[in-house]
Amino acid sequence: MNQHSDLEQGREISDWEQRFCLTAWCDAHMLFVRQDSTRPELWHVVTGEEDTEFRVAATTPICPFCGAHLLTAANLEEGLGEPGKQVQTT
Ligand SMILES: [Zn+2]
Repeated sequence: MNQHSDLEQGREISDWEQRFCLTAWCDAHMLFVRQDSTRPELWHVVTGEEDTEFRVAATTPICPFCGAHLLTAANLEEGLGEPGKQVQTT
């Protein structure tokens, strides 16, 4: 009974990269981004809670709400951009 795939229609989530917005006043904490297949400078961005799709034109994905650069999970593990934490350059 589990043979049926619910991914036959709609977007395939595997194509989307998970990104994070760390702007304190911004409501979009977790977003999914996907680079446009024909225009490398165009990014499709959706929030985790809504199906509204935003399109932003930038070389790297940015938050459609506050314009901040979106961080990857790897960036978070490195501690980059963590709220209230100074990133020191040595
Ligand atoms: Zn934001």
